[in-house]
Amino acid sequence: MSWMRRAIAVASAFPEDVPVGAVVYGPDGVELAAAGNEREATGDPTAHAEILALRRAAVLLGSWRLEGCSLVVTLEPCTMCAGALVLARVSTLVFGAWEPKTGAVGSLWDVVRDRRLNHRPEVYSGVLESECAALLRDFFARE
Ligand SMILES: [Zn+2]
Repeated sequence: MSWMRRAIAVASAFPEDVPVGAVVYGPDGVELAAAGNEREATGDPTAHAEILALRRAAVLLGSWRLEGCSLVVTLEPCTMCAGALVLARVSTLVFGAWEPKTGAVGSLWDVVRDRRLNHRPEVYSGVLESECAALLRDFFARE
């Protein structure tokens, strides 16, 4: 719960971007990296919160292998982010709200549980779901 509260807190780091927050925790539960969406801020189509948090955690650890790490994100990851967390060998994925339009952790695809891949993280979905969904609802209501 406190991990997801932290992800909710970083979701609105860039008020012009869709509020999604991601935090990577190490095997010992210490926060390694956190990010919000930075697509608008950087003009980078791959600057999703999860990608940025994974990159920063890998830089900190000096390795692309994030075995034992947990990725906590307010929204169900898309195909790109789900693919990236599998490649990074993240051990645990925790997400808040479901994303029926683009979600790749059960909604449209299930990239992280595809048995053809050699790594499948443990998944906890719907954590603080209503609060995570409210972030997005409030953002789109503002537009
Ligand atoms: Zn994504």
